[in-house]
Amino acid sequence: MKKIGFYILLAMTLIAMAGCGAKNGSEGVSIVCTAFPQYDFARQITDGTGAELTMLIKPGSEAHSYEPTPNDRIKIDECDLFIGIGGVSETWAQTVLGSGEGKMTVLNITDSVELLDTADHDGHGHSEKDEHVWTSPKNAIKITRDICDALCKISPEHAETYRKNTEIYIEKLESLAADFDELSENAKAKTVVFGDRNPFAYLARDTGLDIVSPFNGCSEQTEASASDIADIIDLVRAENVGYIFKMSLSNEKIAASIADETGAKVLTLYSCHTLSAQDFRDGVTYIDLMTRNLKALTEALT
Ligand SMILES: [Zn+2]
Repeated sequence: MKKIGFYILLAMTLIAMAGCGAKNGSEGVSIVCTAFPQYDFARQITDGTGAELTMLIKPGSEAHSYEPTPNDRIKIDECDLFIGIGGVSETWAQTVLGSGEGKMTVLNITDSVELLDTADHDGHGHSEKDEHVWTSPKNAIKITRDICDALCKISPEHAETYRKNTEIYIEKLESLAADFDELSENAKAKTVVFGDRNPFAYLARDTGLDIVSPFNGCSEQTEASASDIADIIDLVRAENVGYIFKMSLSNEKIAASIADETGAKVLTLYSCHTLSAQDFRDGVTYIDLMTRNLKALTEALT
């Protein structure tokens, strides 16, 4: 036992020394990201370059109601690259970034792709652009390329590493996109019943799946009407839908009540907008979460 203790101590000493070595090397860029997807993309691109990454929306918290703390504002002011989502839930960013000295480069991931309108159930015509662009792996590829380009300009000394990491990562994203294409080819049913807020419009566009949800948008502030829920229960019964979905980190109430009424089994889809504290500690990636989504959709539809 003493020997094991010694080896653990030795390993810890070596790790500590390695950490010191990295600090003495060339300084990495500091990147502040609002949400998890771009945080993870930047993490993959900058691997091995000593970049300092910050994710503002805390793991496990409601992504749509985030507002920066004074500490967050300092981090934003001092960063080299700010990567936001852009759009309605981040209007605060314009004020905060405008008040800084403007040294940092600002990227919004919704600028990298073609945007879809959010569903407008009420017919009031006040549709907004859907910000959940990362739910499409094909979009994730475009966003990753843009982040890589920005980083290469900010710290050209690491450009070679950024480009190499990006190519490796994009191969993985392409394989993920191909897996979703395969799912949509093999799917016996195309209707995905969501008893929850629905952030998957871009994935639906890619795969040709028809996502039915009683909610308009993804924010916790949106509400489902009783008649929309009743319509979904009718649909589940009429089409004999065996599986319905809830979103990760949601209160699950509506999915549970649809399941109670119909006997359908509830599976989870991960929005990736944020992730649980446990997943974050475990180093779970965007590709991990999307792979969980792929498995759940495959179970339900094939
Ligand atoms: Zn969201």
